[in-house]
Amino acid sequence: MSIDFQTLHKVNEGKTKIIYENPEDASTVFMLFKDDITAGDGVKHDVIEGKAHVDWQTNRDIFEYLNRKGLPTHYVSSPEDRVSIVKKLDFKINLEVVTRRVAAGSILKWGKFTEGTRFDPLITQFHYKDDALHDPMLDETYIDYMIQAKGSTEYQEMREINAQVFEILEDAFAHFKIQLVDFKLEYGLIDGKVTLIDEITGGSFRLWPYAKEKPDLNQANVLAELDPKGRLDKDTYRMGGDLSTVKSKFDAIAALTAGFKDLP
Ligand code: 5GP
Repeated sequence: MSIDFQTLHKVNEGKTKIIYENPEDASTVFMLFKDDITAGDGVKHDVIEGKAHVDWQTNRDIFEYLNRKGLPTHYVSSPEDRVSIVKKLDFKINLEVVTRRVAAGSILKWGKFTEGTRFDPLITQFHYKDDALHDPMLDETYIDYMIQAKGSTEYQEMREINAQVFEILEDAFAHFKIQLVDFKLEYGLIDGKVTLIDEITGGSFRLWPYAKEKPDLNQANVLAELDPKGRLDKDTYRMGGDLSTVKSKFDAIAALTAGFKDLP
């Protein structure tokens, strides 16, 4: 099978993917990965040849693992290179849902946490998805009000699914001696159900290798147990790493997630 995208109706084009109608099945759409990489709400932008391919592989292996574990996701299949089939959304929830195990990135600025602080239970925050506004974080009081006074159970469901996905992927990466530090996921409604959508790739999370054979990850700060300099994620790009190094990190992630199919 080789899909001729020139002939298909483009539903939407984002920074890293294009969505096309699936003429053979109105309940699904095609998701085509692009070689583009962006950071800083789209201000920094490059094209890395072959990135679409490794992102497609990583996304496929992670979503197939999550589907196997019974999580509600939009993912159906990956019929050819760079192409996934996903369920069509009834409604896209315009939020980024960030869950953190280890303090890194923006929480060091606004949360006054020391890098490496371990969060147990996990911390989850909602950000309104808007590049021009720099994805502002929603106020916790507002979210609690929406859940309690307005009965908006979707927030609670997103929190729960985010935590479940985090724990599943944290365990999976632990098999390869990698700590899942944090990630960002997105949601929509499909058949009235809160469902995990979008992509999960090297740009979605922070991954830090273990610094030791047997790290002690049950302490208040785990920085000394991990190797942030060996990071496998998009921070390499955000911090100004050259594009071939960035690509090698994304290749390494795809090589790891290829092993997810052999996990129980
Ligand atoms: P932070 O808020 O610390 O910058 O990011 C927390 C986590 O969410 C990191 O794993 C980061 O990669 C991810 N993240 C935050 N904002 C975005 C975004 O706009 N796009 C993507 N792909 N990931 C994001």
